[in-house]
Amino acid sequence: MTPYDKYEAVIGLEVHAQLSTRSKIFCGCSTEFGTAPNSNVCPICLGMPGVLPVLNKHVVDFAIRMGLATNCTIAHRSIFARKNYFYPDLPKGYQISQYEEPICQKGFLDIELENGSTKRIGITRIHMEEDAGKSIHDAGSETLVDVNRCGTPLLEIVSEPDIRSAREAYLYLYKIWQTVKYLGICDGNMEEGSLRCDANVSVRLKGETRFGTKAEVKNMNSFSNVERAIEFEIKRQIDLIEGGGKVIQQTLLWDAEKNVIVPMRSKEEAHDYRYFPDPDLVPVVVTKEWINDVQHSLPELPDAKRKRFVESLGLPKYDAEVLSQERELAEYFEGAVNNLTKKNPEQFKSISNWVMTDVLRVVNEEKISISDFPISPPNLAEMVNLIIDGTISGKIAKEVFDEMLKTKEHPKTIVERKGLVQISDTGAIEKEIDAILAKFPNEITRFRSGEAKLMGFFVGETMKVMKGKANPKVVNEILKKKLEG
Ligand code: ADP
Ligand code: MG
Ligand code: ZN
Repeated sequence: MTPYDKYEAVIGLEVHAQLSTRSKIFCGCSTEFGTAPNSNVCPICLGMPGVLPVLNKHVVDFAIRMGLATNCTIAHRSIFARKNYFYPDLPKGYQISQYEEPICQKGFLDIELENGSTKRIGITRIHMEEDAGKSIHDAGSETLVDVNRCGTPLLEIVSEPDIRSAREAYLYLYKIWQTVKYLGICDGNMEEGSLRCDANVSVRLKGETRFGTKAEVKNMNSFSNVERAIEFEIKRQIDLIEGGGKVIQQTLLWDAEKNVIVPMRSKEEAHDYRYFPDPDLVPVVVTKEWINDVQHSLPELPDAKRKRFVESLGLPKYDAEVLSQERELAEYFEGAVNNLTKKNPEQFKSISNWVMTDVLRVVNEEKISISDFPISPPNLAEMVNLIIDGTISGKIAKEVFDEMLKTKEHPKTIVERKGLVQISDTGAIEKEIDAILAKFPNEITRFRSGEAKLMGFFVGETMKVMKGKANPKVVNEILKKKLEG
């Protein structure tokens, strides 16, 4: 037993999701990413005196969506508050956020652990707020400020301290990422900062009921960084305690290049945000009808989809997991399934195999999104239908698949144009087989004296002369009859 085994980690995540509304939360400015610095601004998001913010209704809609998808209670009345701090990228000197009365509370998400069990992670609250601008420190000796991001709508999703390892934190964050993408409320791009995560980490001896002092780790811009940073921080805290030291409450930054954590500020420097209700904004009122409408417009969520793929389509758990990863992929798969002529688990699995291997291989190699994939779901299904009805073999299907990638043609057109129809005519196949058997008398003797694997050789030779178009089932049957009978 190492000293590390004596401890258990306690982790809570604060996740910020940038909402994909077209305009900002309190003004009409565009939220577009990557435009010229300081171009998407107006007196409101610049914090000029005398202006009044007006709440973007879509932001509330998105917050309700996320709240319902994470099993939260939606407040019929919530309020905006001012969070005061001074920083160059915050022209107003305060951020409009929600504090005492957030829009969503007391939800949860379930994560699937590697051992197959499910763990529930509590969600304390979800609130709406505006983003700050960006300070750019790596432009020579000066710091530049770009306030385009000021007023971009965010949801902050705060978890309970229910997470117990870096892996669980990763899985929870993945579930949030998957959920916001399914809901279409955030693009989930962690490198561009559309989804950001701060991790609160503490450790305690196993069996201890009180929590230890937490430190907050920021600046992790990928899933793997989140996992690595938390692992690093857990080890740092245990080493510190084992060495006779004490964890202090502080904010830390993850340095992804050096793979280390560096201090940013300690509790003494912590801000007193002097929160107070924003007098410029009326309370947000959400009626029962509004919540019902949103509830009815929710898409099927990843957990439900995965479960249905296993229970009603008979897919293996692994397939269901891969196919439900992203909504577009799941919809591609289902689009193909709906176009099958024979609907049974064997055919569903066949489509799943094509999607998981051939489709995803191309998508990953070409770095394209599934919606730009050249073969439409009905065409993929049509190709599988041609295998089912015996028109083409699975091997020829690969050729048809590659051709569809290039030409986007209907599989039937390709099969006809290239003369790929499978030959199932027993007479024609028998003729070729007789010719082959006449050529290889020694192999026949060896086969008959027990070298069973030579069957593969005869099948291969037949396929070769028939250019892969012979129905493999018929070839096998005839060869068997001639060689064994
Ligand atoms: P603060 O007031 O410092 O922001 P909060 O109570 O708002 O702290 O909690 C922020 C996050 O920290 C939440 O996700 C919460 O679950 C988590 N958290 C709270 N206490 C601990 C702890 N002792 N160890 C780890 N995480 C914690
Ligand atoms: Mg907090
Ligand atoms: Zn503006």
